[in-house]
Amino acid sequence: MSQEVFSFQAETQQLLNLMIHSLYSNKEIFLRELVSNASDAIDKVRFEEITKTNLLPAEKDAGIRLSVVPENRKLIIEDTGIGMNREELIANLGTIANSGTKKFLEKLNESDKRDAQLIGQFGVGFYAAFMVAEKIIVETRGASASEAWLWESDGSGTYTLEKGNRTARGTRIELTLKEDEKEFLEEWRIKGIVKKYSDYVTYPILWLDKESKEERLNKSTPVWARNKKDNKPEDYQELYKQLSGDWQEPLLWEHISVEGLLPFQSVVYIPSVVPFDLYQRESHGLHLYVKRVSIADKCKELIPEYLRFVSGVVETDELPLNVSREILQQNSKLPNIRKQVTKKLLGSLQNLAKNDAEKYTKFFEQFGAVLKEGFHFDRDNHEALADLARFRTTTTGRDGWVSLKEYWDRKADGQREIYFLSGNSYDAVAASPHLEALTSRGIEVVLLTDPIDEWFVMDYPKFGEASLKSIAKGDLDLTGVGKEPEKIKTSEELAPEKIAPLLEVFRRICGETLKDVKISKRLVDSPCCLVTDEFAMSAHMERMMKASNKDFTGSKRILEVNPNHPIIRSLVNKVASNPADVALEEWVDVLYDTALLAEGSPVRNPGQFAKKLTKMLEAHNL
Ligand code: ADP
Repeated sequence: MSQEVFSFQAETQQLLNLMIHSLYSNKEIFLRELVSNASDAIDKVRFEEITKTNLLPAEKDAGIRLSVVPENRKLIIEDTGIGMNREELIANLGTIANSGTKKFLEKLNESDKRDAQLIGQFGVGFYAAFMVAEKIIVETRGASASEAWLWESDGSGTYTLEKGNRTARGTRIELTLKEDEKEFLEEWRIKGIVKKYSDYVTYPILWLDKESKEERLNKSTPVWARNKKDNKPEDYQELYKQLSGDWQEPLLWEHISVEGLLPFQSVVYIPSVVPFDLYQRESHGLHLYVKRVSIADKCKELIPEYLRFVSGVVETDELPLNVSREILQQNSKLPNIRKQVTKKLLGSLQNLAKNDAEKYTKFFEQFGAVLKEGFHFDRDNHEALADLARFRTTTTGRDGWVSLKEYWDRKADGQREIYFLSGNSYDAVAASPHLEALTSRGIEVVLLTDPIDEWFVMDYPKFGEASLKSIAKGDLDLTGVGKEPEKIKTSEELAPEKIAPLLEVFRRICGETLKDVKISKRLVDSPCCLVTDEFAMSAHMERMMKASNKDFTGSKRILEVNPNHPIIRSLVNKVASNPADVALEEWVDVLYDTALLAEGSPVRNPGQFAKKLTKMLEAHNL
């Protein structure tokens, strides 16, 4: 059959143009990408070999072989992996299937800046070879394919396909290097790159000299199976890049080596920046190896979902090699490994928090909201999680953080509960009237603004002896807590029976939508506020429920009225002199809507509210 010509998918072409014309200084990573593809291909065929018997043989021992023909500027990388058939060649080397790479391109379009750093960060793989090669020929034969194929391209718009002569399975990639990239033909240069980036690769990377003598370039044991003291930080960092595709250095890693009933080795990493797919739940998991065979690259059973930002690898010989990916879900050994890995990770985060608070804060700001999901899903680790959680409070301001322990250590005199208030944003919550009584008594209040916090307070109702208490719910009795506030002491109390008629007016006018109207003990500067029942959902939670379910109706609120506020006092007088005054109704209405606004809820009828307010402002002529 003759040669066929194909065009690259538009996005592939875009990426190729970028590769060919970029001024990316770190071109040497192309070799890492090709070696890593070769290693993946061997992983895949070893996995297939467990269940299939009729696979094409490799003809050489498993490995990745590098050689050069300097006269023709050729650099050749050959592997004994799974190879590709015709369809796979077209799909893999003609299009971009990898969602990460698509994201990468979008980013470039957004900023229109050819940020070279991104190239590595998104691991653009095979195409990186066009940074150094003017022509690439891929000869490959799939492990179950009846024929070999030759793929050839100079990276400028098209590629060709024709049948090849290869008899062994696997892939041979031949780069014709550009005139000014001849350095990559030098033996010392190639060896240096392999040492630098690919020392962790599980399979032998072999250098073939002129006489075809083989020399192994990488270490024979993978990073996780080695003794900790035999690894350098760079070894861990390279393994991280390989596993996560993240170009930046990890925040921390933990090398776990467990002996005993269920021996396993693991290296797990916490990234220093949020991966773009943090909220795509399918994409998390650790790479699982059994006896050096890669069984699954995203094994969810090995790490809880609330640690989904963690990447890493686990190897154990305690699973049967032919364990299928489906069976993994029922395997009883994996939860045991997960437990130990989780404990170790939380422990190393606790250490980080203790030893480098600044670095830990950076971690928490990015991953805290996800970590807090653990309060719901991982009761066994509540203690560690409570140690790791950080909060903003009325004292810290919007940039500071405090742990529950620190909060409790500096509690006010007589304080027996941890007070909190939840809402959409720090600024909104910090301005809430609910805080007045506490602030005026010098009591610190935890301000919760992550959606997950609503679950956190339900799943973790007590820190030691101290209950978590919402200051927007139920009765709030602050007698004997903190310092006695000045204002309340000096102003003369309005007797409850004097206020009672006004409360009746409130009930008459707003009664439908409210559960009750009460005299408040928590207000200082505001005339009124809304609170929920002790056991009802918080207003914030209700808003979230409404956002996801139109038919959701929340519980009725209690309106609390501040007996010391001048507006309330004059309304009390008004009711006493003329309970039928129509102006009363408007005042009560506007006060109710203001209380709704203060808790972050919409007013009942914005148009009417605006009219009434304008009218009052007019009456108040400046
Ligand atoms: P990535 O490795 O991120 O998927 P690449 O562009 O490097 O992206 O490769 C695309 C696909 O081509 C790979 O996922 C793999 O299926 C296939 N491929 C690349 N190199 C080889 C190889 N040496 N042997 C078999 N398949 C390969």
